[in-house]
Amino acid sequence: MSESILIIGGGIAGINAALNAADYGCKVYLIDDTASIGGMMARLDKTFPTNDCSICIESPLMYEVDNHTNIEILTNTEVRRVNAQNGTFTARLIKKAKYIDEQKCTGCGKCVEACPVSVPDELDGKIGGMRKLIYMPFPQAVPNVSVIDPRCRYGKMREQGACVGGCVVDCSQCRECPIALCVKACKEEGKDAVVLWQADRPMDIEVDGIIVATGIQSAEPATGLYGYNIYANVVTNTQFERLMNAGGPTAGEIIRPSDGKHAKKIAWIQCAGRGLAKGLPYCSKVCCMVATKQTIITKEHDATVEATVFYNDLKAYGKGFWDFYQKAKENGVTYLKARPYDVFEDPETRNLTVRYENMDTGEIEQQEVELLVLSTGLIPNENNKRLAKVLKIELDDLGFFKEKDPVLAPLETNVEGIYVCGGATGPIDISESVVQASAAAMKAVLH
Ligand SMILES: Cc1cc2nc3c(=O)[nH]c(=O)nc-3n(C[C@H](O)[C@H](O)[C@H](O)COP(=O)(O)OP(=O)(O)OC[C@H]3O[C@@H](n4cnc5c(N)ncnc54)[C@H](O)[C@@H]3O)c2cc1C
Repeated sequence: MSESILIIGGGIAGINAALNAADYGCKVYLIDDTASIGGMMARLDKTFPTNDCSICIESPLMYEVDNHTNIEILTNTEVRRVNAQNGTFTARLIKKAKYIDEQKCTGCGKCVEACPVSVPDELDGKIGGMRKLIYMPFPQAVPNVSVIDPRCRYGKMREQGACVGGCVVDCSQCRECPIALCVKACKEEGKDAVVLWQADRPMDIEVDGIIVATGIQSAEPATGLYGYNIYANVVTNTQFERLMNAGGPTAGEIIRPSDGKHAKKIAWIQCAGRGLAKGLPYCSKVCCMVATKQTIITKEHDATVEATVFYNDLKAYGKGFWDFYQKAKENGVTYLKARPYDVFEDPETRNLTVRYENMDTGEIEQQEVELLVLSTGLIPNENNKRLAKVLKIELDDLGFFKEKDPVLAPLETNVEGIYVCGGATGPIDISESVVQASAAAMKAVLH
């Protein structure tokens, strides 16, 4: 049995693979290139088909991983080099500086309160989400420590009012910052955890197996697609998920980006961009159920909201998914088999008119809504190409990691000892990701 494995990606797949392997007595290095484990699931509101609170399910698992004696979590960490020899792998990891001493930080948040500069949040920026230059990735982050935006150092954010003011000294040359308010606030709490002069740290490990669990990304629509990036009230399904979320930028209020008013007429366009030159050439499997979930939750927030889903080909492939769709219809959601072809905005009301071909009647019709959601699909992680090169494993034509043989050798790659699971294999839901993660962990442990 393997004594140690490396898991690349700390979403729900990586977390489950880590817990399974660690329970078998394996030493696990779980790395993530962001500041916290959790992946996409940590940012969702509820999960289909049960509509349980997403973070309430994932957070106890993240806590278990954090406290498991066989698991070492390394966040802000990337794999730079991997060499295979006699069935084992040596890997060079780079732990990028958070400018925080993770042993000393207790996540008290005093540094965040002291920081004077807010910038748009990576995920929620377009719908008004802001974060400070020093910030917690999200309230349940693991590890529960702050992280500093690298742009804050060397006075780069001086124009935006960063507290380093006129200081021109390179932060990596100073060992004691007398100016930064986060440093002062931390010291006042008696902790001294903010380390602006911290550098990236290389780390070499030897493992018997590797699991790739780098997940998926939400596709960004092309500017102009159904008015996206032109009309303020056209958002993606990921942005809408954050609008519904009590932990999101609007504290769960489903309001319009243009004027902050509660939206009473909302439509979803499924397969947005699919088949277009810059769109996706494949079905992302989960979007129909994501939209169904979002309509049900929207109506739980406010039963008077009119919700319409423009769909082309409804996918309800999993256990309980068809009933879930029926539930949405019973709650008053309208499903229209239609092909939307354009959207225009009323400059006064900022409402949007969707023009579409009704595929049941063949008629050209139109509908006015206050908020429009584009279901744009899931794409491979942008770093897959680089990682595939480092690991010497293959990608499929779409950019996901290729299984050696989906029927006879699923989750295995062309390199013995390297396995894949979850969104790294293609668009997938959470329960399937968890099943694959358990199987990949078993294969890696028994390798
Ligand atoms: C809007 C939306 C709503 C959804 N709602 C639901 C739902 O209700 N129910 C459901 O079942 N599914 C839902 N899904 C799908 C669900 O998000 C995925 O099934 C799930 O996130 C897949 O988990 P994962 O661990 O494979 O990938 P991810 O959650 O993407 O996690 C991958 C992790 O790997 C890290 N990583 C990536 N590359 C590297 C690298 N090179 N080095 C180190 N770390 C790396 C990432 O930072 C990330 O933390 C939804 C998806 C979207 C977009």
